[in-house]
Amino acid sequence: MAATMSFTRRKTITVPVGALRLGSEAPIAVQSMTNTDTADVAGTVAQVAALVRAGSELVRVTVNSAEAAAAVPLIRDQLAAAGIEVPLIGDFHFNGHKLLREYPACAEALAKYRINPGNVGRGAKRDTQFAEMIEIACRQQKPVRIGVNWGSLDPELLARLMDENSKLDVPATAQSVMREAIVRSALESAQLAEDVGLPHERIILSAKVSGVQDLISVYRNLASRCDLPLHLGLTEAGMGSKGIVASTAGIGVLLAEGIGDTIRVSLTPEPGGDRTQEVIVAQEILQTMGLRAFLPMVVACPGCGRTTSTYFQELAQRIQSHIRHRMPQWRARHVGVEQMTVAVMGCVVNGPGESRHASLGISLPGTGERPVAPVYEDGEKTVTLKGERIAEEFQDLIERYIERKYPLREQA
Ligand code: SF4
Repeated sequence: MAATMSFTRRKTITVPVGALRLGSEAPIAVQSMTNTDTADVAGTVAQVAALVRAGSELVRVTVNSAEAAAAVPLIRDQLAAAGIEVPLIGDFHFNGHKLLREYPACAEALAKYRINPGNVGRGAKRDTQFAEMIEIACRQQKPVRIGVNWGSLDPELLARLMDENSKLDVPATAQSVMREAIVRSALESAQLAEDVGLPHERIILSAKVSGVQDLISVYRNLASRCDLPLHLGLTEAGMGSKGIVASTAGIGVLLAEGIGDTIRVSLTPEPGGDRTQEVIVAQEILQTMGLRAFLPMVVACPGCGRTTSTYFQELAQRIQSHIRHRMPQWRARHVGVEQMTVAVMGCVVNGPGESRHASLGISLPGTGERPVAPVYEDGEKTVTLKGERIAEEFQDLIERYIERKYPLREQA
């Protein structure tokens, strides 16, 4: 099954971020964020490298202290020395203006600044501190993401809109006013940045909320009121399946409407869990929707009373891990390998049908079936595996299929 763009993207301007381009003319990009202390150079380099290896195309780091700002150019240099070129995004809050001013090497090393307009300062300081960050972005020729977050929404703006709303004959609900305040904060901050001198084509917007319906409503509204690229994500999505489901529900609806130019799935890792899971989920959202192809897809049946053991589940998991592990080499060597699909089915009664639709499919024996596993390549049965080494032999068949089917890349 070829992964093709089947939705009409909302048209936006294109914003360069390092070597990457964001906007409707470019593929929807996958972002992630470190959770290391940025001042810990070795730890942050290791985590950025892991996120990039998993497929993150932009990585955001917190820049919250002098030590973190001083570490940023070292992190960029160590990544480059390891052959990892990825746009690093600096996440700035109340002291961002000061850090960018006092650490010009940090301002230079970052590919983009993320500024939360609700967290740049209070009262009279807010506009001057925001303007100082924008002026530095202008001098450094960096793009900026105006990243509104409902949890730190500008209280003065919200109070103003609530006040205006209360004077209406038919006031809107508090939730509607909150949604409008989020959108207004993003748009007004973008206008303020342009007034300070930031070119329109260096602005990206995001407006993260933690409720799925709020997310959909806010982004629809934002998308209809500007032509800037939008970064999608649900904030505080949560842990485990709840975080994955909530993010997928919100991001999926918007992507299906053509809204969204970069995405991040903000999962809370389990204690000691792997940060790269958020990258894998983001890729899977885009791939299962047919918007991008990152990895060969493994289709596995859910299993039922026909399956005698967990063997087919283990095989599906093993094939999935093998594909993820081997993909960097396959991608470097072959063109189009990410389009491959592999089916792992639990019985030879219904399994062959699904197997025939995959590039390569295997149907394992179910209850009472002969202990053999027919293999299908491009719809044709080619071989029947049996014995103890079915998994290894199927992996070999995948390797040989790729060698045969996908042309070698031209070597530079
Ligand atoms: S393919 Fe076979 S084992 Fe898998 S769910 Fe269908 S009937 Fe059950």
